[in-house]
Order: sequence, then structure tokens, then C-alpha cells
Amino acid sequence: MASIRSKDTKPELVVRKGLWKRGFRYRLNDKRLPGHPDLVLRKYRTCIFVNGCFWHGHNVTESQVSDLVNSACCKIPRTNREFWVAKIRRNMQRDKEEQRKLAEMGWHSITVWECSLKPKQKEQTLDSIAFTLNHIWLKDHGAYPEVEETCLQAAEEE
Ligand SMILES: [Zn+2]
Repeated sequence: MASIRSKDTKPELVVRKGLWKRGFRYRLNDKRLPGHPDLVLRKYRTCIFVNGCFWHGHNVTESQVSDLVNSACCKIPRTNREFWVAKIRRNMQRDKEEQRKLAEMGWHSITVWECSLKPKQKEQTLDSIAFTLNHIWLKDHGAYPEVEETCLQAAEEE
């Protein structure tokens, strides 16, 4: 549990490969930006965070008592529940704070949840990220972007 967003976790790789294949180019783990976004698409002024559903509390909601309500993909253990609730809540607050800072700096943020990257869903998720990126570009520039130079050897450099 040393690192919440460890490098090269599988969901992140799915996003990287999928966006690369769709012609998007990015940098990884930019340490200069709040939250060290997993992917940074400078051209689109967009940061992408690939979040684990458990650690980042996907779809959990606040309940009236100071607890969180489990969601389908974030089930907080019964044992040591208070500890986990505090930890997950802290992560959620930090995520929000980082995205707020990024927005102040003129960056867009996209959060991609681990559960949306399961084999059956991932192509649809990736298409929708691509759609969102193009939409962001359109909003910022009033036109769709030129297609980036496509690399025939589509293998991603590691
Ligand atoms: Zn989820």
C-alpha cells in the first residue's frame, strides 16, 4: 500500500495503449502538475487520471453518520472500517483539490475508472475518452484538431 497510483498498473496501460492507437500522444506521470497525472496531453491541455475504484472511492456516497456508503466497485472492508473510510475519504478530497488546482491553471481533467476498463467495456470507454478530448479541443479552439501524425509502427515506446 505504499503507493496509491503506482506506475504501469494494468488499467493505466489499457488507457495508454488505447489512446495511442487512436492517435493521441501524451506524457506520463508529469511531476510538475498537481496530482502527478497519469497521462498529460499537452496539445489538449488535459490531464487524465486512471483511478482504482477502491482507493479513490468510485461512486461511494456520504451517509448521514460520518461514514461512506459502499458502491458496486468500492466495497469498504468491515474490519477496520473507520481506517479505510478515513483513507478513502482523504483520497477523494485530494483528487477534488488537485483537479481544482489544475482547472485554475487552465487544465482539463478526465478521470477514468478502473471498472470501466474491463475487457467488455474498455473499447467503449476509450472511444468516449477520445470523444471527450475532441470535444475539449472544439470548445477551446472552435474547430476539430488536425489528425496527429500517425505512426505506422503503432507500438508504444516504453
Ligand atoms: Zn468503479
